[in-house]
Amino acid sequence: MPYRPLGRTGLLVSVLGFGASPLGDVFGRIDPSESVAAVHHAIDCGINLFDVSPYYGLTLAESRLGDALEGHRDRVVLATKCGRYGAAEFDFSAKRITEGVEDSLRRLRTDHVDLLQAHDVEFAHADQIVEETLPALRRLQQQGKARFIGITGLSLKNLMAIAKRVEVDTMISYCRYNLMVDDLDLELMPFAQDQGIGIINASPLHMGILTEHGPADWHPASPEVKEAGKRVVALCKARGVDASEMALHFCLQHPHVASTLVGMATREHVDANLKALQVIADPELMVEVQKMIAPVHNRVWASGLVENYG
Ligand code: NAD
Repeated sequence: MPYRPLGRTGLLVSVLGFGASPLGDVFGRIDPSESVAAVHHAIDCGINLFDVSPYYGLTLAESRLGDALEGHRDRVVLATKCGRYGAAEFDFSAKRITEGVEDSLRRLRTDHVDLLQAHDVEFAHADQIVEETLPALRRLQQQGKARFIGITGLSLKNLMAIAKRVEVDTMISYCRYNLMVDDLDLELMPFAQDQGIGIINASPLHMGILTEHGPADWHPASPEVKEAGKRVVALCKARGVDASEMALHFCLQHPHVASTLVGMATREHVDANLKALQVIADPELMVEVQKMIAPVHNRVWASGLVENYG
């Protein structure tokens, strides 16, 4: 397993990271004992970055990940989030964040996380994130509850606007660098590299669109994007290629992303995703896939406050 520095934090993270949102049943009901086995298997195979949030399954994912990490905490870089607590429940106040982290630590069965991130910051006014949320996170860092702090979200414009005003250690950008959308590199990546901010790229399968199973009902992409994804999966299948493997392989080739987070809850998916590290892509199939995606390339959906779109 290759490891990369996470910005200037000094942490080394596996290029393939474990997204724990499926542990909250967000993509469908999972088998909890299998998810524990998947976490242990991932650790044994060298995956060290685990990302979760109190939002995933309304605390269920944190509790299940905490159970799975019992006795393994010192082998992982553990990242959780704060500020988003439900589909439409946001509270980025210093009070809620400071209280909420105690609940997260209890569920995760640890006294500190390695990374504490303000979750989906485009749902708040940037002034609040800059003046209240991030200073509160720095205080939690000083108290030893988190080793480093970051922000996450869909809007590249918003992530960058915040990071230009206040120092952050890391960012999770999701659905902005994969086979369907790749505008992460236009401005955010060069800025992050210049500032030494660690970039974690999430949702390489476009939150389930680039899988044979397909996206969950809640997926916010347009029908055209979902249809294009479905056609890509069918094309790959007809050529004997696993579309998810190809999509993940594409993301893993990015030279500056510290880690790519894939949502997983089974040993089978852990193994399939490890395989994507080694696969050799078929360049002709890639050209066909890109042609198929072209009409919807870089089409994202609105998320958060209108002032933060972008
Ligand atoms: P994803 O693109 O990783 O897709 C996950 C889906 O793909 C799940 O249904 C999973 O079961 C399935 N899957 C995984 N491996 C597969 C394989 N080999 N074959 C077929 N299907 C496979 O989307 P995601 O889970 O949303 O993103 C990954 C992680 O990134 C999340 O779990 C979370 O930790 C993080 N994330 C963070 C934010 C944020 O902070 N705002 C947003 C999105 C994702």
